[in-house]
Amino acid sequence: MSFSFILPQKIIFGRGSIESIGEEAKRLGGRRVFIVTSPGMVQRPHLKQAADSLKKHKMRFDVFSEVTPEPPIEDVYRCFAVARKKGSDLLVGLGGGSVMDVAKKAAADLSLPRIMVPTTAGTGSEVTHESVLKVDGKKKAFVEAGLTADVAIVDPNLCQTMSKRLATSSAMDALAHAVECHESRKSNPIARTLALEAYNLVKDNLMQALKGDTQAMVNLSLGSLIAGMAFGNSGTTLGHALSYPLSNRGMPHGEAVAVTLPYALDFNGSDPAFARKLQKLARTIEFRWNPGWDAREMATEVMQDERHLGNNPVEVTFEDVLAIFEKMKNEFHKR
Ligand SMILES: [Zn+2]
Repeated sequence: MSFSFILPQKIIFGRGSIESIGEEAKRLGGRRVFIVTSPGMVQRPHLKQAADSLKKHKMRFDVFSEVTPEPPIEDVYRCFAVARKKGSDLLVGLGGGSVMDVAKKAAADLSLPRIMVPTTAGTGSEVTHESVLKVDGKKKAFVEAGLTADVAIVDPNLCQTMSKRLATSSAMDALAHAVECHESRKSNPIARTLALEAYNLVKDNLMQALKGDTQAMVNLSLGSLIAGMAFGNSGTTLGHALSYPLSNRGMPHGEAVAVTLPYALDFNGSDPAFARKLQKLARTIEFRWNPGWDAREMATEVMQDERHLGNNPVEVTFEDVLAIFEKMKNEFHKR
């Protein structure tokens, strides 16, 4: 057996830990910080908290709030150009997976240190060495050690302002990461150990966290973080492969995974009872099969995704995938 394991040099977890941004940026040599975020974050209090922490450490900063959901690679180019023009020497990604994926890629291309601060409990992007970006309208994963954050700051308080829909879909994404990296053919003993812990944390706290229980949300954030540490080093499988055609047609990653995960769990035979429970939860996402979607075309896209299918513990054929999409089409038409 041989494997390598890649993680940020430092992970800070805890309620209120967003206040350590200034200290960490200073430690990494930052003097002019570039905060990468989404337009929606500008109205939320976290950006001000981050800014206050940087001010406290006498750091100058600029804000780039133009990252779009399921971002195209052009977002990285724009982020790169503005950061360079401003003379930034450190990047902070403050947001969900889309924001962090753009910030990580731009920082890597600029060879600058970077701090990732997630505001959802789900993507795990703060600790992975992967950026998923759309190239010519199709999702593409860039995977390399150079994309890793220097510091990941996971403050569960930041997740309290998520909408219920966002909280549900991102938690399902975290769950998918835990299950899939555990069963992945490329998994390893460290990833499997982390995946089990993550799976239990997410499974045991998901429902309570969605009801607004603070401690459950802390546990859910922790589960998401640990799932990210694991899947970044072992890869995901069928649930993620099935989700990409949905995202290529405009669905946010978490929502797409929330819809596809129960089908994948069912197909792979992993925890069928829980899969049925998840199917109910997935229905709260208000997903509808778009009449313009072609199941055959989507199945063809999935079959081209050798990276995810190669990780899947069970062999998957075109007919299998087509049958799953036909089933999904039926089930999400009838409602
Ligand atoms: Zn995911």
